[in-house]
Amino acid sequence: MNTPTLVAPVSITRSRGVERLVRGQPTSDGAGVKLTRVLTQPLQQRLDPFLMLDAFGSDSASDYIGGFPDHPHRGFETVTIMKAGRMRHGDSVGNTGLLEPGSVQWMTAGRGIIHSEMPEQEEGRMAGFQLWVNLAARDKMQPPAYRDVPPAQVPAFMLDGGTAVRVIAGSTHGVTGAVTRPTTEPLVLDIVLPAGQSFELPLPAGHNAFAYVYGGVAVDIGGSPVASEHMAILRNEPGADGVRFTAPEGGQAAQILFVAGAPLREPIAQYGPFVMNTTQELHQAVADFQRGVLAT
Ligand code: MN
Repeated sequence: MNTPTLVAPVSITRSRGVERLVRGQPTSDGAGVKLTRVLTQPLQQRLDPFLMLDAFGSDSASDYIGGFPDHPHRGFETVTIMKAGRMRHGDSVGNTGLLEPGSVQWMTAGRGIIHSEMPEQEEGRMAGFQLWVNLAARDKMQPPAYRDVPPAQVPAFMLDGGTAVRVIAGSTHGVTGAVTRPTTEPLVLDIVLPAGQSFELPLPAGHNAFAYVYGGVAVDIGGSPVASEHMAILRNEPGADGVRFTAPEGGQAAQILFVAGAPLREPIAQYGPFVMNTTQELHQAVADFQRGVLAT
């Protein structure tokens, strides 16, 4: 892992509150990989520009061994955040990469890519997240791109008191993340908050934001308790300039995946692995895939 820089705390005046708590839905994808879909299709407009968040975590190989064999995407970006285990990425552009614990993969599907993510282990724990970030209409047909960020290249910072933050995307506290993206300006943080500590995070009021508590204990977010394995959708409040997280005294550290970004405010049309603006564009994506020209 990267050696975190010690930074000074940044104060906010008023925290956003929790608008709604969401419990993920157990599902499976790929060749039978068990996962929890935290951000589901009905929340896409509310959490624009984010389209999906899956959490996966299992000690049982039967839950992940099938992996994600070759499948297409068009019109958005995928962010894979590995916490445990190893997966091998390969795609139609010719990229290959090992997804190892602590690494991040940022794939821009653009006009089309076919890729696979297969487990590089037959036992042991596999855990992580996949987040889908939409592309603006004008960017959907850009050439595909792939970036593999090894654990040591994911910028991290620490505060007095032990709060540790990995900056996967965007910038905060003077630290710029592994990836920065124009237009949607995603801020993606993996936060470890020790018992009794608070962390204040400035945020533009217009950006949509959510926090997924994935480790151990409940966390107070803007005055409301958020239990483990729950996502808090944060209210867009004109008077709120950020969000405040507080871990309860005396327990274990809290782990939070925090995601925020600038909404695109464009129509969202999804058919499985394709996310466009209109039904006609979805038909075109399916036709291009069937004719074998989606990823050429
Ligand atoms: Mn995929």
